[in-house]
Amino acid sequence: MAPALTAKDVLDLWERGLTKQPLQRSLDLLALVYPEFSVEQLCELPIGQRDLRLLAMRETLFGPRLNCLTSCPQCGERLEMAFDTAQLRAIPSGSAPGGPYSIVRDDYEVEFRLPNSGDMLRIAGLSDAGKARQTLFESCVQQARRAGVPISASDLPNELILAAGARMAEIDPQADMQIALTCPACSRQWSSTFDIASYLWIEINAWALRLLHEIHCLAFAYGWREPDILSLSPMRRQFYLELIG
Ligand SMILES: [Zn+2]
Repeated sequence: MAPALTAKDVLDLWERGLTKQPLQRSLDLLALVYPEFSVEQLCELPIGQRDLRLLAMRETLFGPRLNCLTSCPQCGERLEMAFDTAQLRAIPSGSAPGGPYSIVRDDYEVEFRLPNSGDMLRIAGLSDAGKARQTLFESCVQQARRAGVPISASDLPNELILAAGARMAEIDPQADMQIALTCPACSRQWSSTFDIASYLWIEINAWALRLLHEIHCLAFAYGWREPDILSLSPMRRQFYLELIG
């Protein structure tokens, strides 16, 4: 990972990200911390590998403690909970799920790789969930055969697509981070998906708005320029902000 990110780096990234799609934002975040990767390489990271890196980035920027607010699906009780990024790691960061993988069913044989951000970008505009699943699956198929004869991925039966989807989830559990929840009021237990990309973006957005407000206050009080204020450490910015009340 790149050495320490500056406040200016993150503020610039936030500004560029305002007009972008969430998926593109998460790729931009990664490009900032992994400058040694090309955009294509980042797009090709399996979703679990991408999200592990976003978790690490979150730890660097804001620490390991996460806070979430949700409602019980049974009684509507509002739940506030805190947990650590470590609880969201399904596999150690080093173990990259490679590929290709294969699945054999009846006389069908399919070789596939795991879905990545490039695939997600391809299906982002599709509103039909079935069509999106089909398109995603087809872009992950590297070879398909029936009784040894090559066939097109679009000719594979639906049961095989579902089985391959289940197999992908097994291979890359990190791609679907789940938090186990229990309602203190009615004891209902359920699990909720944790989307690190949107969580991190919401935090960066809040952080950027706070920082811009601080810049405004300091520039207004002292006549300093934005680059000078950004070059101050957060602690010193806070000190001057307290002085001006
Ligand atoms: Zn409840």
